Amino acid sequence: MNTELPIKRIAIFGSTGSIGTQALEVIASNPDKFSADVLTAHHNDELLIEQALKFNPNVVVIGDEKKYSKVKDALAATDVKVFGGEKALEEVAAMDCYDLMLAAIVGYAGLKPTLKAIENGKAIALANKETLVVAGDIIMKKAVENRVPIIPVDSEHSAIFQCLVGETRNKIEKIILTASGGPFIGRKPNYLVNVKREHALQHPNWSMGAKITIDSATLMNKGLEMIEAKWLFNLKPEQVQVVIHPQSIIHSMVQFEDGSLKAQMGLPDMKLPIQYALAFPKRIPNNFPRYDFKKVSTLTFEEPDVKTFRNLALAQDALFKGGNLPCIMNAANEIAVFAFLRNRINFLDMTNVIEKTMEQVPFIEHPTLEEYFDSDGEARNFASFFILSSSFRFRLMAAINGLR
Ligand code: NAD
Ligand code: MG
Repeated sequence: MNTELPIKRIAIFGSTGSIGTQALEVIASNPDKFSADVLTAHHNDELLIEQALKFNPNVVVIGDEKKYSKVKDALAATDVKVFGGEKALEEVAAMDCYDLMLAAIVGYAGLKPTLKAIENGKAIALANKETLVVAGDIIMKKAVENRVPIIPVDSEHSAIFQCLVGETRNKIEKIILTASGGPFIGRKPNYLVNVKREHALQHPNWSMGAKITIDSATLMNKGLEMIEAKWLFNLKPEQVQVVIHPQSIIHSMVQFEDGSLKAQMGLPDMKLPIQYALAFPKRIPNNFPRYDFKKVSTLTFEEPDVKTFRNLALAQDALFKGGNLPCIMNAANEIAVFAFLRNRINFLDMTNVIEKTMEQVPFIEHPTLEEYFDSDGEARNFASFFILSSSFRFRLMAAINGLR
């Protein structure tokens, strides 16, 4: 009897990013188990072409339409079908040429293609946490309706998912998400106000894309992950807790009704949760470095400082209030991080932008999908306007002070 499973055809949405490139390493190491059948990128045409020539996918999509002809010409001698533009992402997500989507686009942009994939019955390996932060209720409902498994890739959620294998009948008392604390752990606002982009982009334990690295430095990443966990594991807000664990060896924990705690551990390496999600329900061998108790012998834990890292407090507020508030917060955060990365605002200003936007955009308790889209747009407009008008006011005050 042949016990080998057929090759799983993977669509990597966001193949040129940190998660996407690591997923391709996993696929390249397991050609008997996986093939890369769809690859998508936003701007990075050169890397997309290189990946397409190496993996020979069925389809590639370049989001930036200006780069479409370059990609098309470069792949003219191959069988690879080339599409361009934002809409093409959704069209390709609905195609039959793949089995599992690795949702690895960053930010709100990942929502619509993931939704399309779910509506077309595709299994999802979810790295893009923003999708669940924006519209977790709708995504989870559609996944159930279409019998689509959503397998987490985020390391904390993968840890919880792994702890829950074999526990379907047992009640969760709470889950504990671990956080490294980022590069500014222990720092206070008088230090943070002067933090520069280059410094914030250096994460102590993980090498990731720019947006999530800034989110990790502000602790917004952990806030987004609390909301992500609520939807993935069907929890009440009070069942989701966070502990700072600077060594990033315990990736998260589940506490059951009897008080027993289960943890998943390992070195901080995203290839492991990516491989687990692609291969689920099987575990497959690899040669990734192993955790050595002699090298990291002390594991420490502390409470997060939500008075200094106020983004986490804002996210907890959004988690408890629900409705469109997490969607508003996410949009404001994307605008604030973008502005910080362009040196337009300082590190602490990011929190002010998010807080003001959450106060200004009208709250909706049970939004429809359209209302989520509208809330996202409104929040982006308000946050951008707030940044512009604050910097205008600042320049005006500086000019007036200069005249005095
Ligand atoms: P990244 O910035 O390195 O890569 C993002 C990818 O998305 C790129 O391929 C880019 O071309 C594509 N993209 C960007 N904007 C787009 C747009 N508007 N339309 C279409 N495609 C677009 O990001 P990353 O670090 O790989 O993170 C991807 C997602 O995974 C994020 O949601 C992040 O929170 C999550 N995640 C990442 C890590 C990590 O270690 N990097 C860990 C856990 C979760
Ligand atoms: Mg994470």
